[in-house]
Amino acid sequence: MPSPHDAQTVVIGAGPAGLTAALVLARYRHPVVVVDGRQEPRNNASEGVHGHVGLDGASPDYIRSRAWAELSRYATVQRRRADADNIEAVHGGRFRIGLDIGETIESSSVLLATGVVDVHPNHVSGFSACWGRSVIHCPFCLGEENAGGRWAVVTDDARLAALSAVAFRAWSDDTVAICAESMPDINDARTKARGMGGDIVTGAIRRLHHQGGALQAVEFDDGRVLERDTLVWTLPQRQQPVVTRAIEDLKLTADDAGFVTVDATQCTSVAGLFAAGDVAARWRQSFTAAAAAGATAAEAIHAAAILSAVQH
Ligand SMILES: Cc1cc2nc3c(=O)[nH]c(=O)nc-3n(C[C@H](O)[C@H](O)[C@H](O)COP(=O)(O)OP(=O)(O)OC[C@H]3O[C@@H](n4cnc5c(N)ncnc54)[C@H](O)[C@@H]3O)c2cc1C
Repeated sequence: MPSPHDAQTVVIGAGPAGLTAALVLARYRHPVVVVDGRQEPRNNASEGVHGHVGLDGASPDYIRSRAWAELSRYATVQRRRADADNIEAVHGGRFRIGLDIGETIESSSVLLATGVVDVHPNHVSGFSACWGRSVIHCPFCLGEENAGGRWAVVTDDARLAALSAVAFRAWSDDTVAICAESMPDINDARTKARGMGGDIVTGAIRRLHHQGGALQAVEFDDGRVLERDTLVWTLPQRQQPVVTRAIEDLKLTADDAGFVTVDATQCTSVAGLFAAGDVAARWRQSFTAAAAAGATAAEAIHAAAILSAVQH
């Protein structure tokens, strides 16, 4: 067993990306410490994770506890219940990870698997109760569970607003878009939307009327009420603080929306530092995509360790 202060690899974050990476590394008997943060995982509001074969609809809690039961069978895997605060580059191309419990761990490689944070519109009353149930970020994840009702998509994208009735027809034959009055090209978008059986409603949302998280209506700032059963609302996202710090301190490259850039092996712009899952996936965010990226990173981390052993 490695000492908790010296690991070959540290995985930061225990969602599907981090847990899959840990399992793949475990199969290689590669010493790994998984820093398992104490914040709520991103999909915690959801009752079931959908679209992962063999686990479709299983609860996030069930998947996590089953994963830890599997990992606990491997002697080379350690779990640290802590948040990673910072990552420092130290001598010999190694890294020192500072934990919020006052400890540090040194390692040859690090995998950032911290996910991202959805920034909730806290000024909208009723939002939290509906999030992950009747207010959904994507139809792939929760469309089936909401199919058949009256939908609306909250967007500032004129193209999506125009196409919304068609884009979501698999789940609802009554979908409108909710947009800001100031959205560019709104008149053109509204004409197109109506031509396709949809519509565009403008206004700022101030309240969601619901019964135990089941949406009933959207209320706007001016008091208008629109009856709806489901809202598709893709929220702005931000990185976890440890990632923002790594982008600054280690000069990790990121795209213009702040997602960490990686190569085909999930390696970042800093050798030995990998990133997998939502942290590095602006467009393809899902349980399966995160798990696949975690497995890819783990393979590359293990291959690099063998190469380094051969060279020394
Ligand atoms: C409401 C909701 C429902 C969803 N439903 C589905 C679905 O049905 N199917 C699907 O495929 N996808 C779904 N998704 C998307 C899916 O959850 C994510 O794409 C996936 O969880 C990303 O995995 P990840 O490992 O990158 O990050 P996460 O699952 O977010 O895991 C990251 C982990 O890192 C930890 N962490 C963060 N910072 C630190 C730190 N500093 N130190 C230590 N640990 C840290 C967090 O606590 C978290 O446990 C849903 C998302 C939401 C918001």
